[in-house]
Amino acid sequence: DGRVKDKVAVITGAGSGIGRAAALKLAQHGAKIVLVDLINERSEKVEEAINEMGGEAIFADTDVSDPARVEQAMKKAAERFGGIDILFANAGVNGTLAPIEHLKPEDWDQTLGINLKGTFLSVKYALPHMTARGGSIIITSSINGSRKFTGFGMSAYSSSKAGQIAFAKMAALELAHHRIRVNAICPGAIETNIGQNTNRTPEVDEIAIPIEYPQGNQPLEHGPGHPNQVADLVLFLASEESSHISGTAIYIDGVESLL
Ligand code: NAD
Repeated sequence: DGRVKDKVAVITGAGSGIGRAAALKLAQHGAKIVLVDLINERSEKVEEAINEMGGEAIFADTDVSDPARVEQAMKKAAERFGGIDILFANAGVNGTLAPIEHLKPEDWDQTLGINLKGTFLSVKYALPHMTARGGSIIITSSINGSRKFTGFGMSAYSSSKAGQIAFAKMAALELAHHRIRVNAICPGAIETNIGQNTNRTPEVDEIAIPIEYPQGNQPLEHGPGHPNQVADLVLFLASEESSHISGTAIYIDGVESLL
């Protein structure tokens, strides 16, 4: 069925993991897709996969922390497809994991620059192409930034993820009069390639203590969730089925954050 038929969806971090799964899902449901990511072998293949299944997709090679590149990507989307209806601001990295006294100011800037400023830039530069049409913005935060503050050395990551929720709520308020909805999603552990963008310092491993769950409590599934499960939530928030939902942060973690 075409739950987002003929809608134009811009997806950042679309080359892998959650972004890739959402791109394929939205394309299956009729959306035209603009894939925003750093170009590499993996990200290029997503464009091919969508075009092969009869969908429409273009790729915009973009570092989301670079204002000029993000502005250019959104213009490219609008020029090709006439505007933007859906923005999935999802690109993110774990960055450098280090205890605060070892975390370098430049490491902090890098994580916040991609995860939080990248979200702001994506929304800011998508808006000129969205306000006349209304639409839906979905921002990938995390349980690590809302409800579960574990994972030693993740102060920068968690701060960026908490900031994304605050930003989503402010944007939801500001943009309601344009009929643009804004929601954050908070995944627990999901099986993706995010480990490849993680720089674990030795100090983290020295101090980290393995997590033990209180007896009787267990997650819905053993092991991480699948990107496709997150993509189903993104499709719901992108479609008109969620027309009265804005300014929320939705957990998708199989009770992980309650353990
Ligand atoms: P992933 O590494 O598989 O995919 C992330 C994509 O973002 C990659 O294709 C990468 O190239 C891209 N990216 C990284 N830096 C970029 C930049 N500067 N500009 C443009 N693109 C960039 O990881 P994922 O798990 O799918 O991550 C997606 C989002 O989900 C992130 O925001 C992450 O914080 C969030 N998240 C992931 C998990 C998890 O367990 N995997 C849990 C909670 C939240």
